[in-house]
Amino acid sequence: RIDVQAVTRQFGKNVVLDRLSLSIEPGEFLTLLGPSGSGKTTLLGMIAGFQPVDGGEISVDGKPIQDVPTHKRGFGMVFQNYALFPHMTVAQNIAFALRMAGIGRRDAESRVREVLQILRLGEHEHKLPSQLSGGQQQRVAIGRAIVTRPKVVLMDEPLSALDRRLRESTLVEIRELHRSLGMTVIFVTHDQSEALALSDRIAVLDGGRIVQLGTPSQLYREPANRFVAGFVGESN
Ligand code: ATP
Repeated sequence: RIDVQAVTRQFGKNVVLDRLSLSIEPGEFLTLLGPSGSGKTTLLGMIAGFQPVDGGEISVDGKPIQDVPTHKRGFGMVFQNYALFPHMTVAQNIAFALRMAGIGRRDAESRVREVLQILRLGEHEHKLPSQLSGGQQQRVAIGRAIVTRPKVVLMDEPLSALDRRLRESTLVEIRELHRSLGMTVIFVTHDQSEALALSDRIAVLDGGRIVQLGTPSQLYREPANRFVAGFVGESN
């Protein structure tokens, strides 16, 4: 369980997150949804360890993690720009994460094979990223994030660089992956339809605060205010 307790982040006088609190249950798919500038990426960056915490505390299973560096937090991460190594094949890109985690060669091979199969990348394993479509590249990035079997995966707008068709199929894949592997996912998006399709719960952010936290149907049926009603209902 991840507990974010009254965290604050400010750049100069600009308070980007204002004593924000949020708990994420094990195995939950939780989405941070909000317009540009609402503080989603900053909050995810604090959980990941890229962003300092100016006030408050973040803990995992009761232990504060502020002083734990990013690579020791054990979270899988997927970002908008896949950031694959261009000179490594698909299989090598995925295996790299295992090497960083200190997993031996024999285990590594079977884990890479398993992930290639789950993500339907088997026929592409010897290709370079430049030989793949955007959707396939993003699947490799997801494979790299899950191959170490993290309990928590953080995703920041992983679908936004994809065209509409690929966005829909990758969305279905992310949902299946979460169902079958049961990890906790914290997912950042400004797209309400993605949030509604994927999430167990959605935290709607505006101006560095959570304006509503609930299941997709709660937000849709009982929006807490006009902002949520407009934002969540917009595409429907
Ligand atoms: P987007 O979807 O556009 O990425 P967001 O909801 O993820 O938006 P953040 O990127 O977390 O929002 O940014 C929140 C606020 O923090 C914005 O007002 C932004 O200008 C400010 N901010 C973020 N990083 C910095 C920085 N390094 N220096 C100054 N201000 C920053």
